[in-house]
Formats: sequence, C-alpha cells, structure tokens
Amino acid sequence: EQLTIGSGRVGLRNIGNTCFLNAVVQCLSHTCCLRDYCLLKSYKQEKFSKDEPLLMDGTVVNPRKFYSVFREVVPYFSGYSQQDAQEFLRFLLDKLHTEINRRPNMPDFGTLVLSEEASVMWKKHRERDDSRIVDLFSGQLRSSLHCSMCSHHSNTFDVFCDLSLPIPKRSSTGEVTLRQCLDLFSQEEKLDRDNSPMCERCNRRTECTKRLSIQRFPQVIVLHLNRFTMSKWSISKSTVYVSFPLTNLDLGPYGPVDCGSVLYDLYAICNHAGTVNMGHYTACCSDGNGWCFYNDSSVTPVTESQLQTNQAYVLFYQRSNSTASVRK
Ligand SMILES: [Zn+2]
Repeated sequence: EQLTIGSGRVGLRNIGNTCFLNAVVQCLSHTCCLRDYCLLKSYKQEKFSKDEPLLMDGTVVNPRKFYSVFREVVPYFSGYSQQDAQEFLRFLLDKLHTEINRRPNMPDFGTLVLSEEASVMWKKHRERDDSRIVDLFSGQLRSSLHCSMCSHHSNTFDVFCDLSLPIPKRSSTGEVTLRQCLDLFSQEEKLDRDNSPMCERCNRRTECTKRLSIQRFPQVIVLHLNRFTMSKWSISKSTVYVSFPLTNLDLGPYGPVDCGSVLYDLYAICNHAGTVNMGHYTACCSDGNGWCFYNDSSVTPVTESQLQTNQAYVLFYQRSNSTASVRK
C-alpha cells in the first residue's frame, strides 16, 4: 500500500472486529508531533536497537498488515475478538516506544528506592526509556501517603502514559463533568490496614490516606473514562454522559501546589458505542480543517456540538502552546 499524502482524512477498513484498532490508530495519527515523526522516519537516526522497527515501518493504511505485525510482537492480542481500545493503546505505545528507544535495552536494576525525589526518578526513567513516544505521552504521577499512626508522609512516583479516571455516580442532573472525574481520581482515599503499604517509620501496615496528583505533565495527556466495571462474574458498562471541554482544560489543580494553570486542548476522542459484548469503536479527530468522524472506512465531517456524547471513552488532549513556553 502506498502512503498517500493528502488531507489525511482516510478511513480504515474493518477486517473483523478491528474497530478498536482503527479508532486508536486514527487518534494517534492525529497526534501531529507523532505523525510527522513517523512520516519523516526520523526514528531511523535516533533509535538504538539494530532491529527493524516493524510497527513503526508498517504503513497503517493497511490495517491487516499492521495488525498481523502487532499480534506477532504482542501474542496476547491473537484471535479476532473485540479488544479494549485503551488496553490496545497501552500495548501499542509501549511496543512503538521499545522499537524506537534512543537508549540501549538495559536489564532492570532491581526496584528503585521509593523515597527518592521525583526528579531523580524521572531522570532514571529517561536514562532507560527515551523515545518520541516518551517525549509526548509520558508523565509522572505522585502518590502521597500519610500514616494515621505516626503522621509520616511519604511519596512514590510512577510514570504514566494515560490516566484512567473513575466516573462518579450519576448526579441529579444525570450529567457528570470531566472535572468531577478528575476530582474523584485525585480525591484523598482512606486505606485500611490490609490495603495499605508499609509505613516507613512504623515499619508495619497502618491505616493511612492516599492521594494521587500529577507531578510532571506530559505534552499529550490521554484521559481514559473508565466506563467498564469488573465485578466478580461480569463486566458492566456505564453510559453516563460525561461533558468535557474542547479547549483550555486546566489540569493545574491536579498538579504540584505552585504549578499555576496547565492548559490542554482536545484533538481526538475514541468512542465506544453499544454494550460490553456488542460494542463498536469510532473516533473523532481534529485536523487543521475541523473535526471528522472516523467509523472504520467511512469519514464524515462533524461539528463541535456533535462531539459530546455518552460514548466518549478515551480523550486525547495536547498541551496548548500558550502556556508551554511560559513554564519550564
Ligand atoms: Zn507510621
């Protein structure tokens, strides 16, 4: 298949329950900094590994070829059953990153000391993992624990490529905002002794409180609205309408205390329609000329007012340039 240079508004054929792949690929291909990097094949000069970057090289215009290469490197995704788009996105980003990592593939140096400062952790992460994927999608999450017995505070820092947000119970208006999901995500949580980690000072499990916050903001933030709830015997799906801003999403309140406002603009949405077993993925993506609805092979322009539905599942936001230059 030839790579056609055109409007970029190209549909993707469904080759049997592959709408999850199509929707995710559409969202990623509208991540301008990543798309240009792929098209220019800049990774050829940067990557450390001598292996062929099969996924990066595969022209995604042919989903069959792309999917077969993907399933070869990630055997977990064999078979043609309906897959979860967010899970697929995680695997795909991880695989792409591994192919184009600028650093050699080093063995794990054992677990890093948890009490190390965020910047030290981040530096260590970047010393091993450094690619355009990491440049764009990697952020750092801080988990602060407060021991109720001895009042000791401790922090752990984890790298994230997306944030999975819980959806609060439907409010009286039947509508929930993205901000409410973020509030719930970062809300202080009480952990009882069985579920808490060891307190460093007490040297045993104690009742504690835990809070999540964003320590380092990524250029692109992927917000996963966690619509699927696993219970003992089944999976259920929430169809709550979650409204979200198209521009100027301020994540500052979820960052370090003194970070000010941190603004993001929406550029792609991965939607999930239907039920757990009979679902269908589509995407809405923005390019220079407006928004389009990508439903496998069909592409149709849509207006901004058509973007907000109760099917929104994964939201792709990029940092707006106005603030990125001001902040370090
Ligand atoms: Zn303690």
